[in-house]
Amino acid sequence: MISYWEKESFVNYDFIVVGSGIVGLTAAIEYKEAHPKEKVLIIEKGILPSGASTKNAGFACFGSLTEICDDLESIPSSKVLETIENRYRGLQKLRNRLGDKAFDFQPLGGYELITNQQKDYLDRTSEINKMLYPIFNDNVFSPADEKIGAFGFPHQTVKHLLFNQFEGQIHTGKMMKGLIDLARSIDIEIITGTEVIDFIDDGDRVIINCKNQFQKVDFYAEKISICVNAYAKKLLPQLEVSPGRGQVLMTNPIKNLPIKGTFHMDRGYYYFRNVGNRILLGGGRNLDYEGETTTTIKTSPQIISHLKLLLKEVILPNTPHQISMTWAGIMAFGDQKVPIVKLLSDRIAIGVRMGGMGVAIGSEVGKEINSLLD
Ligand SMILES: Cc1cc2nc3c(=O)[nH]c(=O)nc-3n(C[C@H](O)[C@H](O)[C@H](O)COP(=O)(O)OP(=O)(O)OC[C@H]3O[C@@H](n4cnc5c(N)ncnc54)[C@H](O)[C@@H]3O)c2cc1C
Repeated sequence: MISYWEKESFVNYDFIVVGSGIVGLTAAIEYKEAHPKEKVLIIEKGILPSGASTKNAGFACFGSLTEICDDLESIPSSKVLETIENRYRGLQKLRNRLGDKAFDFQPLGGYELITNQQKDYLDRTSEINKMLYPIFNDNVFSPADEKIGAFGFPHQTVKHLLFNQFEGQIHTGKMMKGLIDLARSIDIEIITGTEVIDFIDDGDRVIINCKNQFQKVDFYAEKISICVNAYAKKLLPQLEVSPGRGQVLMTNPIKNLPIKGTFHMDRGYYYFRNVGNRILLGGGRNLDYEGETTTTIKTSPQIISHLKLLLKEVILPNTPHQISMTWAGIMAFGDQKVPIVKLLSDRIAIGVRMGGMGVAIGSEVGKEINSLLD
């Protein structure tokens, strides 16, 4: 039950976004920039943004060689290329919006560790470089075997190293704080700790039912966008979206850490990078697909043990280290490796299922949502 005053001043908006991840924040910012006089609200169920956007590894990437080759097995090459281009464009957009310094964007380049099992993929390097040439105007992947020793990787496991000159790394926390600060600076309102439980387009406006532990409130908007990624099925059961948990560990600071840049292994299933003089390592979802198809935000002993072993045997075999933190976040996947961006009605857009590279594609999806609603 709400008062006359609340009804007059608190619940009516021109545009409401559900979810304050990178996609929701970008959609709201793009809308407000195009309609500065209109009232924009973001509703977020967590106290902090509580999806993947604040839990990720901070790779500014668009796909490793083995991952791209794997995608080409099941997805038409035009679609694979379009997705890579959208990821790359999304990254450029994010950099232009925030400025590289604000979120510690560092163009250190990326690497892929090639073991005996993946050796055949190397034969496709020129083919993939040729395919990507129209986007990057240069070769993306080049051999870097001479750095295997310098990084301290064991030659008996890491047979080859491939360099990607266009990859970078970011500070994920600074990126999200930067987007939130930008949203607030242009008068976008953000309500946290409030879950959207349903919404309906009644022909004149959209009614959004919300609740938290204290109250239930209906908000009203001319237009809305649902940007809840892995949580989409709870609001829209018909969507083809599955959660996929990602687990991560981080080491203590390591003196003279030789590893700098972003590193991929095994078709994107494992990834590590330096964060200053620490190592962040994540992945291993392929060890238990069924168990990791969950929205439960916690780590599992099986996957964390496997990551620790990989760290000890392949990444830091000669360097004493300790684990200082572990965490998990939830990604969204589907039968196709492309986001779902579409209209449900003239007033309702959705932008969900960002996969494992939503930092990259998120800004592009935020923009696409706005062009659909315009
Ligand atoms: C461990 C890990 C590592 C990753 N590494 C990288 C990487 O290095 N590079 C990269 O590009 N991508 C990476 N990703 C993927 C990337 O983080 C995501 O694709 C991206 O953040 C998705 O953004 P989003 O805005 O769509 O969703 P989210 O960030 O998940 O945001 C959705 C928001 O909606 C909110 N919400 C959900 N339901 C409701 C509701 N009913 N009412 C209100 N609010 C709701 C959630 O609380 C959440 O805050 C990684 C992900 C994980 C988990």
